[in-house]
Amino acid sequence: MRDTQPTPLSRSELQARGLGSREIERALRDGLLVRLRRGWYGTPDLAPSLAHATRIGGRLSCISALESHGAWVIRSDLTHVRVGTGIAVPRRVDARLHWTHERARPGVDSPEVALAVAVQCVDRETLVAAVDSVLQRGILSAPEVDQILMSTPRGRAVRALVDGAAESGIESLVRLRLRAHRIRFRSQVTIAGVGRVDFLVGERLVVEVDGYAWHGDPNRFENDRRRDRQLLRRGYLVMRASYRQVIDDLDGLVEAILDVVRRREHRWRGVRRTELGTRRSLIDR
Ligand SMILES: [Zn+2]
Repeated sequence: MRDTQPTPLSRSELQARGLGSREIERALRDGLLVRLRRGWYGTPDLAPSLAHATRIGGRLSCISALESHGAWVIRSDLTHVRVGTGIAVPRRVDARLHWTHERARPGVDSPEVALAVAVQCVDRETLVAAVDSVLQRGILSAPEVDQILMSTPRGRAVRALVDGAAESGIESLVRLRLRAHRIRFRSQVTIAGVGRVDFLVGERLVVEVDGYAWHGDPNRFENDRRRDRQLLRRGYLVMRASYRQVIDDLDGLVEAILDVVRRREHRWRGVRRTELGTRRSLIDR
């Protein structure tokens, strides 16, 4: 994926492709090229974050580079840019800068470099969710991630929280928050007759989260309702949260879970559990 994305091109690279000064000027006039910085150009399909990093004079790095390699990233409000010392950066810059002694030629940092930078930069939730997705999507292998994380104390703390089996970044965020509140749960639990659920809190509270911002799949909609009914029939409680609800109000979701836990309704004790099939003869009659 990473090799097919458009990259910034230097004047000499354009010349090597047979574009002289006159052709470059014409391409700029026709909108086929954009000037990003002195001696650096981009095609109109260049990713905005990479164009921004190049205008500043550095490389796309840290969490922004991981996102560009296909990782799921929760908060991408600022572009993270690695800049070589000695580069004249605009005084007011709308980006998070990482200074380096190396030459930071315009482009995108490798996932390895980007992750090593991110470990020292972003908050733990953002980092764990990104690393989960780096593993889940195969952007880096587990040994590659380990090598980077285990080399610093901050990285080692994050390594203990990472779970490459998480199916979405949203799931990672919920998992971390439940852990932080010391709520006992298991993720990706298979319940007989129902299938796999995202989280089982205690013994009977099922928490399901939408992994993606969009949810327009009618089959999924029907299936979710069928699952809810099957879970309720078996005595489980079901709590659902949309992608937006997790992003915007994770505290609200955790509070709701805690309310159930405080009433101890996440346990079977005291609940009359129905074994499906045992009363069927009565109902059928
Ligand atoms: Zn950063």
